Amino acid sequence: PKPRVAVVFGGRSSEHAISCVTAGSVLAAIDPEAYEVVPVGIAPDGRWVLESGDPERLRITTPDALPAVDAGGASLSLAPGGDPDGRAGLVVTDPGSPPRALGEVDVVFPLLHGPWGEDGTLQGMLEMSGVRYVGAGVLASAVGMDKAYLKVVLRDAGLPVMPSVTVTRAAWQADAADVLGRLRGLADDGAGARRPVFVKPARGGSSMGIAKVGDVTDTDAVRRALEGAFEHDPKVLVELAAEGAREVECGVLDRLPDGTGGSGAGGSGAGPETSVPAEVLVGDDHDFYDFEAKYLPEQSTRTVIPADLDPALTARVRTLSARAFAAVGCEGLARVDFFVMPDGSLVVNEINTMPGFTPTSMFPQMWAATGLSYPDLVDRLIRLALARGTGLR
Ligand code: ATP
Ligand code: MG
Ligand code: MG
Ligand code: MG
Repeated sequence: PKPRVAVVFGGRSSEHAISCVTAGSVLAAIDPEAYEVVPVGIAPDGRWVLESGDPERLRITTPDALPAVDAGGASLSLAPGGDPDGRAGLVVTDPGSPPRALGEVDVVFPLLHGPWGEDGTLQGMLEMSGVRYVGAGVLASAVGMDKAYLKVVLRDAGLPVMPSVTVTRAAWQADAADVLGRLRGLADDGAGARRPVFVKPARGGSSMGIAKVGDVTDTDAVRRALEGAFEHDPKVLVELAAEGAREVECGVLDRLPDGTGGSGAGGSGAGPETSVPAEVLVGDDHDFYDFEAKYLPEQSTRTVIPADLDPALTARVRTLSARAFAAVGCEGLARVDFFVMPDGSLVVNEINTMPGFTPTSMFPQMWAATGLSYPDLVDRLIRLALARGTGLR
């Protein structure tokens, strides 16, 4: 029988809509000859529902009509199976009728971005249920999600990161003057001038809640930026801006157990494969790679794939991506975001354990340019999860 794949999408984070768009593309790309698909939506309130999975509905047409999970479906729950082969049952509850088993799923594809999905919480639930799933495990998901801890881990592995200060809502409310003092210390360039900073939710994504502040002594601007970020997360990073940097990204993908890559990227067979890097060029109408520049149609954002970097820098991006993947303990896939500083050095901005996955998203495009098509990428991820099994790894 064909493996049964539960594609889980939507979710409780601010990236609900992006997850829906991602799911629309993945659902359209899964080979129905190879897999049986069960589309499972998580409504913004956290309810699991059986979705139609109609890709037509799951796209962004206008900024005011972002897709969302249709919470009207029959509600679902995962029944821990105790199955040594990594299957778990799904139970459907239709209002007014007794619960019925939907049968077992062989693997879960958690296409969720942000907290309660990309951060290890769902992964923990799947581990508890004993079911196989695509992508990073509990710890790697949690580390990848939290930009403050991510820096601790990357720095310890000798990878370059931007200096930052973590500001909790509680600390800001208790002693704003102390926080402002720490921010002045961060931004001080040692020559009497202040460097600009980025204020970002620690566990955000899709650039939501991110703002640039030119001068941290502008208390009103700091307050506005912090409050904007606190809307997404009570824990916020204030990070030195990578001024004049180019933005480059790179995909990382595990190899199948038999060592076959299938991307044509070749390589030694040890460790994961890396994609050709891509560069993001944001148009003059955007200050940085913000939500609109990322996702809304008719933006001036351009991507250059492969990025126009000299061979040595390209090799370094790919090596550092694999090192970041290993340092965090990722599995399956990840996208590593970099700054190429004006002096040519590289800084790791962040890692995404479930990167945006629409056909126009960077991750699939980088793999397409490396020789792995979108449907083959989706198939590879499912096969990796099926091969991985369950339990401690
Ligand atoms: P993603 O959708 O990639 O998960 P995210 O919400 O996790 O995004 P980041 O990738 O950290 O956030 O930042 C989003 C964008 O904001 C970056 O691509 C870049 O344009 C800008 N940015 C963030 N931090 C900095 C910085 N320190 N210096 C310069 N630009 C920055
Ligand atoms: Mg991110
Ligand atoms: Mg992200
Ligand atoms: Mg990013």
